[in-house]
Amino acid sequence: MAKKRFLADLHIHSCLSPCSELDMTPRAIVNKAIEQGIDIIAITDHNSMRNVPAAIAAASGTRLTVLTGMEITTCEEIHILALFDSNNFNNDFNEIIYSNLPDIKNNVEHFGYQIVVNCDDEVIEFVPRLLISSIMIELEPVLGLIHKFNGIAIPAHIDKEQFSIISQIGFIPEGLKVEALEVSRNTSEEEKIILSKKYQRPIVSFSDAHFLSDFGSNLSELYLEAPTFDEIKKKLTHKLRAGAGVPEGTCS
Ligand SMILES: [Zn+2]
Ligand SMILES: [Zn+2]
Repeated sequence: MAKKRFLADLHIHSCLSPCSELDMTPRAIVNKAIEQGIDIIAITDHNSMRNVPAAIAAASGTRLTVLTGMEITTCEEIHILALFDSNNFNNDFNEIIYSNLPDIKNNVEHFGYQIVVNCDDEVIEFVPRLLISSIMIELEPVLGLIHKFNGIAIPAHIDKEQFSIISQIGFIPEGLKVEALEVSRNTSEEEKIILSKKYQRPIVSFSDAHFLSDFGSNLSELYLEAPTFDEIKKKLTHKLRAGAGVPEGTCS
């Protein structure tokens, strides 16, 4: 089947992330993504997936694909994007991560609210435990857990000076089981090609949106047969296996 170009933003925070604006409800995110012509999004809140079902419900009947996602903070304070199929909201995975967060209460005045909503923007719950803490699991077991649940693991914003694999441990270990690497909008197209060759991984770049105004600021183009998780996984793991093949700078 011929491949088509799809615009993907697979790193978006909803109002469940305490650092996001309250207007980032799943429905608002879905509407904004459609308005911007984006084809595939992932909701990747800090250490929780609980607003994913509302986003999937809000996108039902539209042309937008919503993947299940989470931005995990490992024990080493490394941010890892974990992406799963739309139909794979796995409460077990979510519970493992939540139960491995330290029992620190969210200070609303300092960090903001952590709100679980339904697809009509109605509040279901304020999550009590602070979601932006590091979980008590190290990097490699986190990657193992993501893959055990059939997910994709992508170290987030590796070029940033905080909470990135490079900032925390100084390098990317050889043979690390990750499907791609994410860079921030500060990395140029030329630098992406250099990084892709150096690390033998596709380089992707997403908005890391915390505000509705962040949308569309940084997207990756994916050439796929269909806008599905399986197609994305196939594309990224094919490149992973390709090893010394010619890696592409961006995931296009
Ligand atoms: Zn991050
Ligand atoms: Zn993020």
